[in-house]
Amino acid sequence: MIRSSAEIRQAFLDFFATKQHQRVASSSLVPGNDATLLFTNAGMVQFKDAFLGAEKRSYTRATSSQRCVRAGGKHNDLENVGYTARHHTFFEMLGNFSFGDYFKEDAIAYAWEFLTDVLKLPKDRLLVTVYESDDEAFDLWANKMGVPEDKIIRIGDKSPSKKYESDNFWSMGDTGPCGPCTEIFYDHGEGIFGGPPGSPDEDGDRFIEIWNLVFMQFNRQADGTMDPLPKPAVDTGMGLERIAAIMQDVHSNYEIDIFQNLIADAAALLDCNDIEHKSLRVIADHIRSCSFLIADGVMPSNEGRGYVLRRIIRRAVRHGHKLEAKSHFFHKLVASLAKQMGEAYPELVQQQAVIEKILRVEEEQFGRTLDRGMALLEDILSNMDSDTIAGDDVFKLYDTYGFPADLTADIARERQLKIDQNGFDVAMGLQRERAQQASNFGTDYNEQLKSDHTTNFKGYTNDSYSATVVELFNS
Ligand code: ATP
Ligand code: MG
Ligand code: MG
Ligand code: MG
Repeated sequence: MIRSSAEIRQAFLDFFATKQHQRVASSSLVPGNDATLLFTNAGMVQFKDAFLGAEKRSYTRATSSQRCVRAGGKHNDLENVGYTARHHTFFEMLGNFSFGDYFKEDAIAYAWEFLTDVLKLPKDRLLVTVYESDDEAFDLWANKMGVPEDKIIRIGDKSPSKKYESDNFWSMGDTGPCGPCTEIFYDHGEGIFGGPPGSPDEDGDRFIEIWNLVFMQFNRQADGTMDPLPKPAVDTGMGLERIAAIMQDVHSNYEIDIFQNLIADAAALLDCNDIEHKSLRVIADHIRSCSFLIADGVMPSNEGRGYVLRRIIRRAVRHGHKLEAKSHFFHKLVASLAKQMGEAYPELVQQQAVIEKILRVEEEQFGRTLDRGMALLEDILSNMDSDTIAGDDVFKLYDTYGFPADLTADIARERQLKIDQNGFDVAMGLQRERAQQASNFGTDYNEQLKSDHTTNFKGYTNDSYSATVVELFNS
């Protein structure tokens, strides 16, 4: 019986190996071949050049279980974590790929065989979507796989102005390989809010998308031109945690084996009895993305990838604060994660000590200003006469207390409020101008401007950061 996440991962790779697919290891979360992409957000990223025909490989079929992060850029699920049953910032994507080898017919047949024959999912719980004009895919589902026509849903472009933004037209980013797709959904049953894809309440969690089969046909250029790929290709992605939820008979991804121990350990550290508390789920999600990002060489910083990492860490620490954490807790979860996932990802075990130290430094830094920032924020919240926190306040929280704007927005959202993002951006712009002018006078005030005014901590730049870490290792 295939049930655990490890068994599902293995069964998937074994299945595609029997279909002559080369097993390829997961690549880093930091894309090696693509400056346009923040993080590896899908299994196809490491194969991008093979799809474009720019790279020749010794095989034309591949399969992988790819670690992914969706916390910025085109696919950003940071705001979904804690709000849906199915989104993580870090997850594993199982995939099979054809580089000019098989196309729609085999891709659909393999997926259907794996789900209904290997995993033995009940067919009547499955629905599929196809791109509006893709009669070929519709016909394959209906006539080759025998899916009833009322369970095949055509999905078109959302609006004429957003021509290629349909859920059934997949792209990695603003440029690069893309094409129409067909997606497989699982019905978790009545009593859960949400309608089938294409319906007004499709964003609920009753019908959960499990597998996307993309028929790669184009390379989109920066100006929007769609160049046909040298050979049509296939790229598929299935979220391991989502299929594990089905196999383990639970509705939420956060109830599967991988998360159970992580959440239990977080609950013990934070002395929280409510095992379904949203903050525990957020923390369990965030320890995965933060640990894996650091293992792949990302360092917390004030810009780019490092700033996304820092923002995720601070959100986790804030959720701990919400649960009245008595001490620094976040870095202590690395051990739990290493125990849970160390077998599949030995680098987690090898780097455990480094990851813990980096997270501890971050926790300590933010811990110094978190209480006072929260007090200010509570003050602002209790004196509000609209539903929007002013940009200047959001900026003050950022500048003085190290609250990233999205963190303030997250707290606001919990109380049905929002932030004035525009106002914040304007305040940020003004600060940059001031910094620019100051530097014209021969002094670099950037450092000071970035520093935390309420403590003597001098800046969050990579250099001083690395120095802190080096210091730690020498201590
Ligand atoms: P959704 O519509 O639910 O946000 P998606 O359409 O954005 O998913 P794809 O880009 O098609 O997802 O990715 C392929 C598969 O990866 C999905 O079918 C799903 O199983 C999984 N997946 C996508 N995003 C996440 C996430 N944030 N957390 C966990 N699994 C995910
Ligand atoms: Mg999505
Ligand atoms: Mg989708
Ligand atoms: Mg999808």
